[in-house]
Amino acid sequence: MIYSIVKFGDPVLEKPAAPVTVFDDELKKLVDDMFESMYEARGVGLAAPQIGLSKRLAVIDVTFKEDPNAKLVLANPEILHTEGKHRQPEGCLSIPEFREPVTRASKVTVRAQDINGQWFEKTGEDLLARAFLHETDHLNGKLYISHISALKRDLIKRKIRKLIKAGEW
Ligand SMILES: [Zn+2]
Repeated sequence: MIYSIVKFGDPVLEKPAAPVTVFDDELKKLVDDMFESMYEARGVGLAAPQIGLSKRLAVIDVTFKEDPNAKLVLANPEILHTEGKHRQPEGCLSIPEFREPVTRASKVTVRAQDINGQWFEKTGEDLLARAFLHETDHLNGKLYISHISALKRDLIKRKIRKLIKAGEW
């Protein structure tokens, strides 16, 4: 099943999500659907709040289907360690059509539970590091535009308000 992506303005995107506590077949189905929805939207990461579910769950595939082993499920992720700096344009499926350079750590270690509830740690660099931070932010109710200047953020919000008024958001 393909979910539609919740867009900026929906309060679910700006509140901390609840922990995942049950690792059952229903969760597996949800994760499959999240991957499908992410690919359909041409994204490399998707957090559950982006489909309207306030759960600490995210899926990532920075290779976009090229490497099946690159598919990652993060339940209840926590950032353990960050280092370095990397500045790159960043976007979000919930804020379509906009991209802004964001400075993030270039190397990030995350601790999370997999689809079976097993805890694991993984270190990613560059795009994967960015995805760990971007998706974990989502689960804390934070969007990437909170990392850009207030001036740029206000400009984006103003443009979005116009789009909402025009019924184009
Ligand atoms: Zn996002």
